[in-house]
Amino acid sequence: MDKIEHIGIAVKNITEANKVYKSLLGYEHYKTESVEREGVITSFFKCGESKIELLEATNQNSPIARFIEKKGEGIHHIAFSVSNIKDEIKRLKSEGFTVINEEPKKGADNKLVVFLHPKSTNGVLIELCQEIE
Ligand code: ZN
Repeated sequence: MDKIEHIGIAVKNITEANKVYKSLLGYEHYKTESVEREGVITSFFKCGESKIELLEATNQNSPIARFIEKKGEGIHHIAFSVSNIKDEIKRLKSEGFTVINEEPKKGADNKLVVFLHPKSTNGVLIELCQEIE
């Protein structure tokens, strides 16, 4: 894995959260994007080599809505960038990790993504992402 690409934070209200993170970081988010299939709207802040991704649910069945219902707002996942997502999936499966979606799917920010189940990673949802060429 190359680096921490971003940290995903589940929020109830992305407009309000954008203001908080603007105050925190000292600058505006650089994009907002909705991923309809996942039922989320996201906004991204650059922070050096990494990013902060804020996620708000757009419907009650969204994984973000369920996360907030169970745990409240907070860190939802950590995403690592990889250069070959299929090879990484193979490697991680052989190491015993539970891959949630074996076929990479299109996520926000022009990325192919897969998730590892938190059961196999000490309670942290891990995302792998590869830039789409
Ligand atoms: Zn993410």
